[in-house]
Amino acid sequence: MQRTEISELGEFGLIHRLTHDVTIHHPSTLRGIGDDAAVLDPLGKRVVVTTDLLCEGVHFDLSYAPLKHLGYKAVVVNLSDVCAMNARPTQVVVGLGISNRFSVEALDELYAGIRLACEVYNVDLVGGDTTSSPSGLTLAVTAMGLVEADAVVGRDGASDGDLLVVSGDLGGAYMGLQILEREKSVFQAAPTAQPELKDHAYALERQLKPEARVDIVRELGELGLKPTSMIDVSDGLASEVMHLGTASKVGFKVYEDKLPIDPKVYETAREFNLDPTLCMLSGGEDYELLFTVRQSEYDKVRNHPKLSVIGHAVAAPDAFTLVTKNGPEVPLKAQGWDSFHPSAPSS
Ligand code: ADP
Ligand code: MG
Repeated sequence: MQRTEISELGEFGLIHRLTHDVTIHHPSTLRGIGDDAAVLDPLGKRVVVTTDLLCEGVHFDLSYAPLKHLGYKAVVVNLSDVCAMNARPTQVVVGLGISNRFSVEALDELYAGIRLACEVYNVDLVGGDTTSSPSGLTLAVTAMGLVEADAVVGRDGASDGDLLVVSGDLGGAYMGLQILEREKSVFQAAPTAQPELKDHAYALERQLKPEARVDIVRELGELGLKPTSMIDVSDGLASEVMHLGTASKVGFKVYEDKLPIDPKVYETAREFNLDPTLCMLSGGEDYELLFTVRQSEYDKVRNHPKLSVIGHAVAAPDAFTLVTKNGPEVPLKAQGWDSFHPSAPSS
């Protein structure tokens, strides 16, 4: 494959190459790339803004995360945060720190992923910044979204008795990471070994190409259902449950037998000698939405194919318990992802 050095294009040439054919679709984007700043029109709504910084060696490992997937994921994790406010994502800006280890072609790949995510989610890329870095890749994405003023949902609105609901299934992204780590070590020991990945398409996709639940935000709106509190599952369910509880000054009871897991992910966890429940509670990066609704809304969520009612809020603040399958209640432990924790995996 061809390798063009970034120095051959220079900063402005590179920006041009990556962004010259970006088009704008949103009525709220008045002005995008090419000026000193983008100009947005909130259309009478509330604006939500969120940012995520991804550093090579801390948040991703390019030996198994292809650049296109990385670009896609970097956008999606931000859109997920916009969704968690019950808002619809509308714009993103992208900050890039790049070392000369990366060729122009590699950055084309990264941008192919960024732009695919923008297309899939109908979000406008309206700006960014590009700079060199002494080593590694740093990727900062900021996303904006719009929501009606009376539809904003924070982490702090849950009250005693509210039902705890999660979208989709849990633990898949964590199992995907375990599979990739295993194949990486097999490959390091025997570089000619063929990776055994084909049986694990779902878990790998959950890890490498997560999606933001814009569909859930839309469907909740269509059902006329405004959650009392909401958060996205980026660090692991247990940790997110505690965030909702702490912000809302309530506790939660979570029922182990209600936790949603894909059957194949369950099987793989077993093969890896991991407790599937622990994968659901502590494995991060599922990017599902976790929210609470009033008990009177039970009929709207009970048979919804994308939603599981997994517990309820209790009056005692900071009382977080897991009702296990065989009966006893145990304290819910957050062993979520923490990039500053010394034993955090370097992924
Ligand atoms: P300034 O010097 O005013 O900050 P730049 O020369 O850095 O402007 O950027 C020129 C234009 O290109 C701006 O609209 C900026 O938002 C956009 N831009 C720069 N880098 C990127 C990038 N990596 N992705 C998308 N847009 C970018
Ligand atoms: Mg300027």
